[in-house]
Amino acid sequence: MTNATPPSPCGCDEVPPGTLTVEQARERILSLITPVAEHRRVELMDALGSVLAEAVISPVDVPPHRNSAMDGYAVRSADLPATGTARFTVVGTSWAGRPWTGTVAEGQCVRIMTGAEVPSGADTVIMQEHAEREGDAIVIASGHQPGQNVRQPGEDIRRGEVVLEPGQRLRPAELALLASLGVPEVAVHRKPKVAFFSTGDELVAPGGELGPGQIYDSNRYAIHGMLATLGVEILDLGVIPDTREAVEQAFQAAASQADAIVTSGGVSVGDADYVKETLDRLGEVDFWKIAMKPGKPLAFGKVAGAWFFGLPGNPVSTLVTFYQFAQPALRRLMGQNVGEPLTIRVPCAEPLKKRPGRTDFQRGILERDASGRLTVRSVGQQASHILSGMSRANCFIILPRESGGVDAGTEVDVQPFEGILCP
Ligand code: AMP
Ligand code: MG
Repeated sequence: MTNATPPSPCGCDEVPPGTLTVEQARERILSLITPVAEHRRVELMDALGSVLAEAVISPVDVPPHRNSAMDGYAVRSADLPATGTARFTVVGTSWAGRPWTGTVAEGQCVRIMTGAEVPSGADTVIMQEHAEREGDAIVIASGHQPGQNVRQPGEDIRRGEVVLEPGQRLRPAELALLASLGVPEVAVHRKPKVAFFSTGDELVAPGGELGPGQIYDSNRYAIHGMLATLGVEILDLGVIPDTREAVEQAFQAAASQADAIVTSGGVSVGDADYVKETLDRLGEVDFWKIAMKPGKPLAFGKVAGAWFFGLPGNPVSTLVTFYQFAQPALRRLMGQNVGEPLTIRVPCAEPLKKRPGRTDFQRGILERDASGRLTVRSVGQQASHILSGMSRANCFIILPRESGGVDAGTEVDVQPFEGILCP
């Protein structure tokens, strides 16, 4: 597809009237989609990848009590020596979960473990490496700060504080945070169900024999992987041949069961594609041309109550358009607060070719050069059917519409895959 569009007289990529920019298309999609309304209460262990439907308010202080940040000795700061050394008698031990219940008096200390409650009287912990043990006493030198190595109750979170807002996706850190509050379950949005299928007579599922002119269906595996990573419920409807009946049946089956439908292929102009014709009959779908490369055609709208994303068939275009449009939209459908994708500016190690007109999402490799500086380079071939390049890439290099290419050393916008692939 790289050379499918002949160069226009101005040397620009052709951008037909009515073409949308990437930002316009994303805004239009996001302005229409609202989160799945149904909520569920789920146990923490089942909540990974779900999105909070309600704010979480802390029922407790975290930490719940004053505790030690170190293994060492709990002392009274008033007894710390200003100069020289001081001697303390060890009167007990405070273990994590088994506190020492007495009160530390003048000249006394308590052996204390990390996480153990700091006994009353004491307010400071001396690291064991800084204490000289002499029988039932310790000797410490000057130079310690009052209050050191003591974690105060509520230092992390105070009771009554809003800890997590609605729209927060639950990652491992949030699950741990909720557990640290003693919260056993949370209210989340129901996970949307997303149906997906590939279209095209040329497609054969891996494991089958290729007939003349046929290729293996790769997009369904890409879409499956991207949906599974997002954490939606998935419904695989397989490969649908290019017949009116099969395409219509597939859309009806998908729309009757799912909140959203993602397909690949059949959205560009082609004789044997019944996708457009069927969608005109069954749904309200717009067929867009987007000023981007790869991924110019995109269909978006509704089919009998289900959101529909018709991604272009070329394998790299499928991945790029999913990440740029379907993924943020599905995140919103899941209830998540969707921000701008993370980009960083990095010098490009080599010149990159581009014609003005469309936003390029070139596949790149972000790495450190010999002096440890982050740089980016192209994976090489940038045509929209080159999946091996997509697989070698760890980022998109985003070149703006007006750009006519970059010289080596120029800073470019890079979207690391970690920022978009991870939940
Ligand atoms: P289409 O948008 O249906 O015209 O397809 C554009 C290009 O992508 C054609 O070369 C198709 O053979 C290819 N293609 C479409 N669907 C898939 C798929 N599921 N897996 C691999 N290639 C595909
Ligand atoms: Mg096709």
